Amino acid sequence: MTDFNAADFRQCFPALSQGQCYLDSAATALKPQAVIDATVNFYSQDGATVHRSQHHAAQTLTQEYEQARALAAEWINAPRPADIIWTRGTTESINLVAQSYLRPKLQAGDEIIVSQAEHHANLIPWLMLANQCHAHVITLPADKLGLPDINALPALLNARTRLLAVTQMSNVTGAMPDLARAIELAHANGTPVLVDGAQGVVHSPPDVRQLDVDFYAFSGHKLYGPTGIGVLYGKSELLDSMDPWHGGGKMLTRASMSDFTPQAVPHRFEAGTPNIAGVIGMAAALKWLKTVDLPSAERYAQNLASLAEEQLSQLNGFRSFRTQNASLLAFDIAGVHHSDLVTLLAEQGIALRAGQHCAQPLMAALGISGTLRASFAPYNNEQDVTRLTAAVKYALSLLAD
Ligand code: PMP
Repeated sequence: MTDFNAADFRQCFPALSQGQCYLDSAATALKPQAVIDATVNFYSQDGATVHRSQHHAAQTLTQEYEQARALAAEWINAPRPADIIWTRGTTESINLVAQSYLRPKLQAGDEIIVSQAEHHANLIPWLMLANQCHAHVITLPADKLGLPDINALPALLNARTRLLAVTQMSNVTGAMPDLARAIELAHANGTPVLVDGAQGVVHSPPDVRQLDVDFYAFSGHKLYGPTGIGVLYGKSELLDSMDPWHGGGKMLTRASMSDFTPQAVPHRFEAGTPNIAGVIGMAAALKWLKTVDLPSAERYAQNLASLAEEQLSQLNGFRSFRTQNASLLAFDIAGVHHSDLVTLLAEQGIALRAGQHCAQPLMAALGISGTLRASFAPYNNEQDVTRLTAAVKYALSLLAD
């Protein structure tokens, strides 16, 4: 690992070569050259399938595919590579747990606790499941800062609670709840915990063993990897006890016209030809990340968000929803609709997102209809902050006319 140097880091991202002002990394991160190269090499030279064909390229690629699993396990300190299931992303990982782990156990009247700060990816699968099984989703409220209120948890846990679903980091406010405490409380009630790590894995990669989390889900594309690839980590004993969700090729050891025997974990959960290019790109991202001083890079991005917050707070009506020094800065300006402002910013070449950020219950808790969100990554710089502030000022001047 080398010391973090912002200019060198930025150089790794060809998408920024024309000086783009990209402040939408919480939606998806730009890709470093190492990931682009690995993907191009796969399609131009190594193209083959995995776990099927006997020819040389297919065998080599199968090894790479499995080595990538080991890298992902290492990234979050999972005990064994087999505890890593490749999925399409956080969304699919959570649906897998809902359908494969919880559905067979869920009885009518059972309860699933879901925080009000969740992205829809960690809410809708539980609502769907609750509907399917006549169970109930119980709200763990978000506090004034948009933080899941862990203090409210003891009163919600009971003999019917079958799972707690909570985020590691809000994609709106950047708030990070005290997960260790939430997990301890849930476990004391015999309740397993699923953590949505889509944002958290980027800013604060967890040690899943130390955290003692039961399931942890994340996406490759926010972690500088390709889209369409993600991870579900699960404790070995839980994964081993789960039936497959998707059926198809290579997830079984024997099939007849009347039944089949599923493969061992993880292959039991990876039916069909997988996203091989995604896994290869993900491995490249994880190898590249090992060369980065992540804590320094994160501090640098947080400082940029602080600077932006400081500059924008000079503007009348500015309100920040940022918590805990996050590198995400959600904000609004009194009297200005976020969708008008984001359009005027887009016209000035500023890439950020506005709206409800797939978190409508959190918007309701905060009493707002939406926000703008500037999300900073270590490839941003102070010029991006200056451009954002200038563009917001100019947009406001247009709207005031
Ligand atoms: N959870 C959070 C906190 C997120 O920010 C996102 C992506 N916006 C997701 C879940 C869903 O991730 P994906 O769309 O990659 O499945």
